Amino acid sequence: MIFTGHNVTIEARAFAAPVDNPEIAEVIDLISGEVQRATTFIAAHRYSELVEARVAMREAMKEGRPRHTCAICGTPVHLVANMRKRFFFRHKTEDGSCPAVTRSSLSEEEIRARKYHGLRESEAHKRIKYLIERSLRADPAFDTETIIQEKRWNATDDPHTWRKPDVQATSTEGRFAFEAQLSTTFLDVVVSRRMFYRDVGAHLIWVLASFSEDYRRMTTDDLLFSNNSNVLVVDEETVRLSEETKQFHLRCHYRIPFCNGGSITDKWQESVVPFSAVKKEIDQQRAYYFDYGAQEAKCHESFDQQLRDEVIAYWAANMTRQMEGSPEHQDRWLAIKKKLAERNVIVPTRPAWDGGFKGMMHAVLSALKGRGVGWQFDTLIQCAHQTAQMHPESLLAFAFAVEVAGHKELLESQDSTGKWASRCKTMRVQLLKGDPRYTPPQQWMPALSFLFPEVGARLAEFVRRKGLSTS
Ligand SMILES: [Zn+2]
Repeated sequence: MIFTGHNVTIEARAFAAPVDNPEIAEVIDLISGEVQRATTFIAAHRYSELVEARVAMREAMKEGRPRHTCAICGTPVHLVANMRKRFFFRHKTEDGSCPAVTRSSLSEEEIRARKYHGLRESEAHKRIKYLIERSLRADPAFDTETIIQEKRWNATDDPHTWRKPDVQATSTEGRFAFEAQLSTTFLDVVVSRRMFYRDVGAHLIWVLASFSEDYRRMTTDDLLFSNNSNVLVVDEETVRLSEETKQFHLRCHYRIPFCNGGSITDKWQESVVPFSAVKKEIDQQRAYYFDYGAQEAKCHESFDQQLRDEVIAYWAANMTRQMEGSPEHQDRWLAIKKKLAERNVIVPTRPAWDGGFKGMMHAVLSALKGRGVGWQFDTLIQCAHQTAQMHPESLLAFAFAVEVAGHKELLESQDSTGKWASRCKTMRVQLLKGDPRYTPPQQWMPALSFLFPEVGARLAEFVRRKGLSTS
């Protein structure tokens, strides 16, 4: 840069420089439908390009089709340079009413709402509405007369509450509001629309013009993750397919979870799918092709099962009287304990030293196996007496485990003296009287429910029904 007197000459290929702290900080590109920082926009151009663009911008404005508007007030803007040839945007008419000029403070929310409003005027937005409408008109499942852009949709019970969806249409599947996602669709808009359409019993379908898994805005993530990790896109190709097949198609991008050695990894997938194959849920306002949540739950369930198997195998192998608590096994237990803690399941650090926990595990595992686990008993009846005698707090868990495993008859067949039957009678009376000896240890209930889900569920139900308090 050469600075002589009042003139500054900038080399043509140098990058243009913005002023510091411009009044108009952000502009909306009405063609691309993007919000751009004024300083970034300016600095991204070479000086010569920007001067050229400036002329075209002014022309377009004069012809009433401005390329950029102020993100805050929506007034068309054009580029100007100061004496030092540093650039900034100026309103077409500078009447001082723009909050950016008056420096009046707007809340973040108000600013986002204004940007969102500005973006709705963009070419990009008009185009996506047009693509959605064309796709719908191609499909006879949608009633032609119901396919309308930008028309008020009133709440059923309150005529003062309404929305204006980009495109609305009715098909044999119900009423649909299609909303194009703009580059600034802020969370309040997403949330309030979800609630509105859920209340009127209609489907709200968010549609994007494009999607890139590697470059996602927060606003896209808001839609993606509240929609079972699916996003729907309309583009030239889907429109063509919709028209060829006379069936509305969309491109769906979705995540697929894979269970990999104890953790889940995701892969992105994309397919063009008929809209009829998209699952729609009014309650949750979701529309997805691939059920990520269900697949993820399967992964979690298989990890949980692996961990259960690991605990049970550890217990059977190490918790006999000879082995329990030996140092070489302690490390393995601590590793298990850590994995359980990740699932909010607490177990003691030294299980051999915790009589209550050890008793519960021995009792339930023995009941499930039909013979002593941890205890050196061959028969189930010995385990039953041991539990009743030494661990009455785990007797209910033992009894439900016998039930779950189908070992009731086995237990009865081993009770040749009838001692167990009469003991049960006594204990039942005590239990009904609310004898606290039989109160299950609350501390270990999460562990019981995790390791033995069915036993845990039956015990919890029993405790709830009988109004037993847990200790
Ligand atoms: Zn403005």
